[in-house]
Amino acid sequence: MTAVAQGRGFVYLVGAGPWDPGLLTLRGRDVLARADAVLYDYLVNPALLAHCRPDCEHVPAGERPHRITQDQINAALVERAQAGQIVVRLKGGDPFVFGRGGEEAEALSAAGVPFEVVPGVTAAVASAAYAGIPVTHRGFGSTLAFVTGHPRAERDEDAIDWAALAGMSTIVFYMGRRRLRDLADALMGAGKPGATPVALVRWATRPDQRTVVTTLAEVADTAEAEDLAPPLTIIVGEVVGLRDHIAWVERRPLHGRRVVVTRSEAQQADLAERLLELGAEVLPLPTIAFEPGDAPAMAAAVAALHTYDLVVFTSVNGVDHFLDALYAAGRDPRAFGAARLAVIGPATARRLRARGLVADVVPGEFVAEGLLAALDVDGLRGRRVLIPRAEVAREVLPDTLRAAGAEVDVVPAYRTVGPAVDPAVRARVAAGEADLITFTASSTVTHFCRLFDAPTLAALQARTQAACIGPITAETARQAGFRVAVEAERYTMGGLVDALAAWGAAAAG
Ligand code: SAH
Repeated sequence: MTAVAQGRGFVYLVGAGPWDPGLLTLRGRDVLARADAVLYDYLVNPALLAHCRPDCEHVPAGERPHRITQDQINAALVERAQAGQIVVRLKGGDPFVFGRGGEEAEALSAAGVPFEVVPGVTAAVASAAYAGIPVTHRGFGSTLAFVTGHPRAERDEDAIDWAALAGMSTIVFYMGRRRLRDLADALMGAGKPGATPVALVRWATRPDQRTVVTTLAEVADTAEAEDLAPPLTIIVGEVVGLRDHIAWVERRPLHGRRVVVTRSEAQQADLAERLLELGAEVLPLPTIAFEPGDAPAMAAAVAALHTYDLVVFTSVNGVDHFLDALYAAGRDPRAFGAARLAVIGPATARRLRARGLVADVVPGEFVAEGLLAALDVDGLRGRRVLIPRAEVAREVLPDTLRAAGAEVDVVPAYRTVGPAVDPAVRARVAAGEADLITFTASSTVTHFCRLFDAPTLAALQARTQAACIGPITAETARQAGFRVAVEAERYTMGGLVDALAAWGAAAAG
């Protein structure tokens, strides 16, 4: 059964870029989404696998640390394609730049397997960009060389024309850490001045990227003194000096900070993305997960929806679970009839809007008290109010509305359950590695605390501070033993992000 005969087997050789998942190409993302199997390198960010279908097979296939030989990789690509699979071979950086993608393409071609090559952002270019070094600049010559510092055999090194290389304006070495002293000596021996600036960029585009600037004469000693282990690129040339003016990664307010995100897995993408943009390393530690609440009560509320004068949504989750129940019952938003819709804040309003409904009441202050102020509470005497919300929540809203004479039905639209916590992340947080823990609701504080025993919690609280979305969450955090370093002035995710940025900028001086 040959694949090609079946007309389906295909291999995409895809460059994953250096690490930052935003540096994958659109073409790369599209072909990942249709793959039956992905064979990926050790330099590839596993986060990219999120673009795959849930049933896609993930096969670690770097030469390191899995000890699969290149021949085995080539054979696996051919075999899988011949069995009819759509295979993505995901390689760090660009597949054809020191990536042995050429050998894979040759093997596919020889076996008659159809393939496509999707380029990627190569490490030299990414390292330079993220270190604030233009690889070329009109003021500093016009040639650029990419060189492997790990030639196939020692004798190949002699094949490098060192004199020609020394004449290049910018030289970037890949895989050069182990032989750094020899490389620098060879360049200087060929006439490159020892004073030429050199940048060593380790783990470019990762939140913990490190850049160290030195000179060609001192580069080997510097790498040892600074304990710079691979992967790193070595950028040699006068352009390195431009970094003094245009380094930008280090200027981001949360550069070098580790920030824990405690929101549920389904809800953390937005906050995590904005923290990454501010330069933080994000440690995802979902403290809660959600599941539908009281199904019969929800069904009854949906059936009687036309009888309510006001429906109040106090969270995005409430909106989602209630509307899911509505559609599951074969109804649609017309079932709300003439009821007014109130929300607790802009995020809830946006979610409602995304699901085809516009909120009539959005308060100025995004807590229950703010919502009560925005509602004409006295006008609700004798009116029917529905509040689909979390199974456990503050009672101030229904209590106040009832006291004003409204007839209030609270239905548990969803409940919180224990999340799947990554033990590696939990261990790092327990060890006090994080600078800040973000709390976006009081419930995230209580659930966070349950993930640790008391001595561990106390120890981590001595090293890690809290960043809270508003005063109520901050109070809960303080009572749980946290020092609160950041408290948002606007009680929204955007307000929290702004407060974190201000904190980072102030701390950096
Ligand atoms: N095909 C890849 C290169 C693979 S060779 C590409 O185009 O980028 C592996 C070498 O690439 C490493 O030894 C290191 O020199 C460099 N490298 C890869 N990712 C890197 C990163 N994120 N930061 C610094 N160097 C990196």
